[in-house]
Amino acid sequence: MNTVSSSRRRFLLGLAAAATLTPMLRPGQAAAADVPHLAESDASAKALGYVENAAKLDAAKEATFKKGSHCAGCALYQAAQATGGYAPCAAFPGKAVNANGWCRAYAAKA
Ligand code: SF4
Repeated sequence: MNTVSSSRRRFLLGLAAAATLTPMLRPGQAAAADVPHLAESDASAKALGYVENAAKLDAAKEATFKKGSHCAGCALYQAAQATGGYAPCAAFPGKAVNANGWCRAYAAKA
């Protein structure tokens, strides 16, 4: 075996090891698939008026709701971890919210 092929092998093995370990180096960044969806019936969801579909929300009943606002446009929606239209939300630790949802903690992205 010559020196070049040995170096190449070590390089490729290093790449494979890095690819294997990379997901383990980011604890706390759970994908939405890893956490349960927030149900409207959940006590914390009720406390903040969470709904799965903001388009169906009656704006007359929610004083802070602005038409067109929804989770995907909220600063607390962790879009980088979104899966299947759901992503973790900082207002509901351990739960994933619907991209089309809304709650009273809504904060428009800057
Ligand atoms: S805080 Fe934002 S992302 Fe979370 S449920 Fe409320 S509106 Fe949706």
